Amino acid sequence: MGDVWSELIGQERAVATLHRAVEGRRHAMTHAWLFVGPPGSGRSNAAKAFAAALQCPSGGCGQCEECRTTLSGAHPDVTLLRTEQLSIGVDEVRALVGRAGVAPVKGRYQIVVVEDADRITERGADALLKGLEEPSAKTVWLLCAPNADDVIVTIRSRCRAIKLVTPSEDAVTELLITRDGVSPALAAHAARAAQGHIGRARVLARSEDARIRRHQILTLPATLTSMTACLDAADNLVAAAAEEASQATAELDQKEMAALQEALGVGGRGGKPRSAQGAIKDLEDQQKARGKRLQRDALDRVLTELTGYYRDVLAAQTAPGTPLVNVDLADQIEPFARRSTPEQTVRALDAILVARTALEGNVAPLLALEAMLISLSQAART
Ligand SMILES: [Zn+2]
Repeated sequence: MGDVWSELIGQERAVATLHRAVEGRRHAMTHAWLFVGPPGSGRSNAAKAFAAALQCPSGGCGQCEECRTTLSGAHPDVTLLRTEQLSIGVDEVRALVGRAGVAPVKGRYQIVVVEDADRITERGADALLKGLEEPSAKTVWLLCAPNADDVIVTIRSRCRAIKLVTPSEDAVTELLITRDGVSPALAAHAARAAQGHIGRARVLARSEDARIRRHQILTLPATLTSMTACLDAADNLVAAAAEEASQATAELDQKEMAALQEALGVGGRGGKPRSAQGAIKDLEDQQKARGKRLQRDALDRVLTELTGYYRDVLAAQTAPGTPLVNVDLADQIEPFARRSTPEQTVRALDAILVARTALEGNVAPLLALEAMLISLSQAART
């Protein structure tokens, strides 16, 4: 077992900066930090490791109670905001600012981690600004976002940025072997397919279902030969994403509901009081939003896989001999590349980008996928 930094692979520069802050070097510590980095680089893990190191009497040993409770989310002086909503509103931010001002009961600091700071609304940002401008001595804000540009400028300018990078394929392979006990061949395959996304690499290494699903997505482009094929494929992808989301949440949904009902004293004799109905409705709404977000995440992965496929096709067309990301599918990618032109491949990549923008803009997933697959089939023929 290593210290809290040991899982932040390939992030030596960021870790060095955080380490100096934990050691309390002159000017190294500040009360507001912004962790930025591409998806899968481990922004929130880095923020949590830093939080643990700040609370730990030995600077992040990974073993003591402060470290363990911080990493598991149970530390009373570390608040973690993981939103399932598409935006973080002013009420939620006000509650956090209130929380941040409370003196720590156990740890050395009162720490607030916001995983998706890019989702804070403008009014939310105004509320957060008050918290950042008048920090209490023990407060530390750890905000996370894909890019600094995604965060409202007034917030960003008050934070010290920590930039995480995409870890190398070798580093991810090594991590899967040493920490997860994956065989070297499978670890290398998963690391390559996940292109530096550690969480995704771990899922691919551990789950055969995930590997089969990935293979199905990557064999899709060659099958889009008619309108019916496109519409069927869109239907299947959206249904599979919904299924994946419900599998991931069904158990949690049930547990949350049971816990809420117990807290409300519902389920005994007599009807539910009115306030209980409201609380149950709120939880149902939150669970629905989480399901939707997970489905979108699953579809986003489909788009990422397809982008990788067409990038490989483009590489085969324009720079033969370039190592393919999907090297296991070379026998499909190479003939596909010969049958089409680089212009067609670029059009296909554009169509995927359009679909991603549509999904982000809350277009119905089925419509976005249908439009994309039809464009992909046309790109292959015109
Ligand atoms: Zn510790």
